[in-house]
Amino acid sequence: MSATATRVLVLNSGSSSVKYQLLDMTDGARLAVGLVERIGEETSRLAHTPLATGGERRETEGPIADHTAALKAVAKELAADGLGLDSPELAAIGHRVVHGGLKFTEPTVIDDAVLKEIERLIPVAPLHNPANITGIRTAQALRPDLPQVAVFDTAFHTTMPEYAARYAIDVATADAHRIRRYGFHGTSHAYVSRKTAELLGKAPEEVNVIVLHLGNGASASAVRGGRCVDTSMGLTPLEGLVMGTRSGDIDPAVTFHLKRVAGMDEDEVDTLLNKKSGLIGLCGDNDMREIRRRIDEGDERAQLAFDIYIHRLKKYIGAYSAVLGRVDAVAFTAGVGENAAPVREAAIAGLEEMGMAVDASLNALRSGEPRLISPDYARVAVAVVPTDEELEIAQQTYALVNA
Ligand code: ADP
Repeated sequence: MSATATRVLVLNSGSSSVKYQLLDMTDGARLAVGLVERIGEETSRLAHTPLATGGERRETEGPIADHTAALKAVAKELAADGLGLDSPELAAIGHRVVHGGLKFTEPTVIDDAVLKEIERLIPVAPLHNPANITGIRTAQALRPDLPQVAVFDTAFHTTMPEYAARYAIDVATADAHRIRRYGFHGTSHAYVSRKTAELLGKAPEEVNVIVLHLGNGASASAVRGGRCVDTSMGLTPLEGLVMGTRSGDIDPAVTFHLKRVAGMDEDEVDTLLNKKSGLIGLCGDNDMREIRRRIDEGDERAQLAFDIYIHRLKKYIGAYSAVLGRVDAVAFTAGVGENAAPVREAAIAGLEEMGMAVDASLNALRSGEPRLISPDYARVAVAVVPTDEELEIAQQTYALVNA
């Protein structure tokens, strides 16, 4: 690697999208950010913002057939701003990989064996890992000489004790099919728990934090002294909190019932629970802004959806308080956690006996910075800590290739 190579390209490849950011690791500055959506359709769209040159956001529409074409289009946009993938300043490409199973506990330089292992995990991540693999292969073809690093969504959770990770089902069956709690959003939980410690002026080893990552997907984690000891997502991202379109926790017998009584097949049940449940299933909207607007107009369905969402959050705050024994901070993050003051207020309301409270005026302030929203007297710090998964992926990638 050249001594002047200080840039990292972060790629997050989904089934029909690629999100990307080019960062300069001397100061973590974004040089360019963008998104390709609806890959494989006639109406694909590329939105690119060259922050380094202060340029305007550029949008192009038109068919982009596959991930290879998408990355080539991204490379062309970057090159137009003098930030091309062929630049000697590019140190590495960091890939978000959703499922790393038990094997990948750290960011990993990708070689054939690593790619094979990510492929081997497809049965436990059928929606995500294939897209991640396609993204990696395409990037490798574009810059075969460049280190490519996988940063796994599951890695932060591999420190969970066996009693938290194992489901209480037949051990032989579970082991044969690798059924256990893996957890996701790990990059965010790692980043936010560390930033929360920083906000409290302490080392990560000194604090116990409950992280509530509330985006369209949502998960909670219990982090003791910088290490994850429990998390709400499981074998897949379906378990745990009420999400935008996912049910979160339900009695698993509901799935038998849907098959036996409602006559649904596996795929229909899968779609129902992953895409048509959660907030959208309950009230027809999955955007918290819209739900709050409807509540303000007196909409009862929106109110009930909100109440169910909050009730589940409280249950996890309670459960993880018990798991941790001592809680130093509760940190809200991601789209809902960072922006929806009513969610934060309602989730913490009534928890004074547990040392938790929210100050209404602090909670109402808007800011992109990590901040406390609890009153001085509260024993537990309640914080809003914006997540930055791309920066975390870039930092881990850069640290690894410079090691
Ligand atoms: P993901 O990465 O899971 O797609 P995000 O973390 O970007 O999701 O969160 C998206 C969600 O954040 C939206 O669906 C919406 O519910 C919520 N959200 C975004 N902005 C606001 C806001 N200003 N107020 C309330 N909710 C918001």
